[in-house]
Amino acid sequence: MDHLPLPDRASFPLLATNPELVWLDNAATTQKPRVVLDAERRFYEESNANVHRGGHRLGHAATEAYEAARKTVARFINARPEEIVFTRGATEAINLVAYSWGGSQLKAGDEVLLSTLEHHANIVPWQLVAQRTGAVIKPIPLQEDGQIDMTAFCTLLGPRTRMVAVSQMSNALGVCPPLAQLIAAARSVNALVLVDGAQGVAHQSVDVSALGADFYVFSGHKVFGPTGIGVLWGRTEILDAMPPWQGGGEMIERVSFDGTTFAPAPRRFEAGTPAFAQTVGLAAALDWLAAQDRIAIAQHETALYQQLAEGIRYLDGVRIVGTAPEKGPIASLVFGRAHPYDVAQFLDERDIAVRVGSHCAGPLMQSLGLSQGTLRVSLALYNTQSDIDRLLAALQDTLELLQ
Ligand code: PMP
Repeated sequence: MDHLPLPDRASFPLLATNPELVWLDNAATTQKPRVVLDAERRFYEESNANVHRGGHRLGHAATEAYEAARKTVARFINARPEEIVFTRGATEAINLVAYSWGGSQLKAGDEVLLSTLEHHANIVPWQLVAQRTGAVIKPIPLQEDGQIDMTAFCTLLGPRTRMVAVSQMSNALGVCPPLAQLIAAARSVNALVLVDGAQGVAHQSVDVSALGADFYVFSGHKVFGPTGIGVLWGRTEILDAMPPWQGGGEMIERVSFDGTTFAPAPRRFEAGTPAFAQTVGLAAALDWLAAQDRIAIAQHETALYQQLAEGIRYLDGVRIVGTAPEKGPIASLVFGRAHPYDVAQFLDERDIAVRVGSHCAGPLMQSLGLSQGTLRVSLALYNTQSDIDRLLAALQDTLELLQ
C-alpha cells in the first residue's frame, strides 16, 4: 500500500513563517496545523455562543459543535461520547480523578502505585488526596535502562492496591511502560489503572476499549490542538459512581436551597462555561491527525530518533539517559562537563529550541542522580533529517566551546 505523504512544515503557520526554526520542544507543546487555527477562528466568526444555554439558533449551533467535538474525541480513542469529560488539560483530568474517585474511594492504608517516571501532574494530585484520606503512595522503581521494574511492581501489588497510575510515554525519557502487562497485573488485585497519555497520544494510536485501563487522560496542546482543553476518558460505570468535584452551572440537574441533584456524567464534571471554542480546535486536530498515515509517521519519528541516537554516539561525553528499547521519539541528553542550560542557550542562538531542566519529573531526576536535569530533544511528525543534522552539528560546535 502506498503511504500518504507526511505532513510538512508548510501546513504549520508558525513553522512556515520561521523557516530557520528547528522546533524540538514538542513534548512541551506542539505547533498547530492551519486547519486547527482555521477551525477555531471559523467557530468564533460564525457560531460563537455559549453552549447548552441559548434560546437561539447560534446557541444550538455552538452546542452541536461542542457535542460533535466530544464525539470526535470518542472516535479518536475508540470510546463512547458519554465517557469523554472535557477538562483544561491532562493535569486537570488527573486532579479530577484523584479528587473525585480518590476522595470518595480511598481509605486510610489503601495504596496508590505510581511509577518513578511520572510527571508531577501524575504525582501531586495523588499526594493531595493521600493527605486527605490517609492513603499511601508507593513509587514503582525503575530498571537501569529507565523501564519500569516489573518484578518490583508485582511485589508492590497487593490487596491494598486501589490505583495504579502510569504514563503511556515518559515526557522526560521517552520510555514507554508495558501497559498491557501492568494493566493485567493490576486487574489481578482489582486495582484500577489510570494511563497518562499526555505524551503518548501524539505518537501512538490509542484504543481505550482494547487497552483495558479505567481512565485515560491527555492534553489538546500536545496533540496539535489548542491550549486550555484536555480530555478525561473513564469507564461509564466508574464515572457514574464518582461524586462531582466542582460545583456550578451545567453540572446540575436541579438546584434549590434545600439541596441539589447532579447531572449524569460527563456533564456532572463540567461545571461552568467550558472551553467550547477550544473543543472545536481539538476536534479539528484529532480529525486531521486521524486522516494522516500514522504508521508512516511513527516510522518517520523512529528513523529520526535513530539518526539522533547514532549521531550522539560520535559526540564526546554526550549520553542519552534511558536506553530501554521501548521508546518514543524523546531523548534526554547529559554532557560530560557542560551544563545542559549552557548547551541549550547556544542551541537557541542557532534557532534550535529544546528544553532543559527536570521536566516536571523531580522524583525521576532524583532516582537517576541528575541534579542538573537533562537537555531534552522531543520530536514530532514535522521534524526532518535536516533538523537532526542541524542539531548534531550545533551540539558538536557547542561542546567544543564548552568542554
Ligand atoms: N503528563 C505528562 C507525561 C506530561 O508530559 C504533561 C505535560 N508536560 C502533563 C502530564 C501535564 O499536561 P498539561 O500541563 O497539559 O496539563
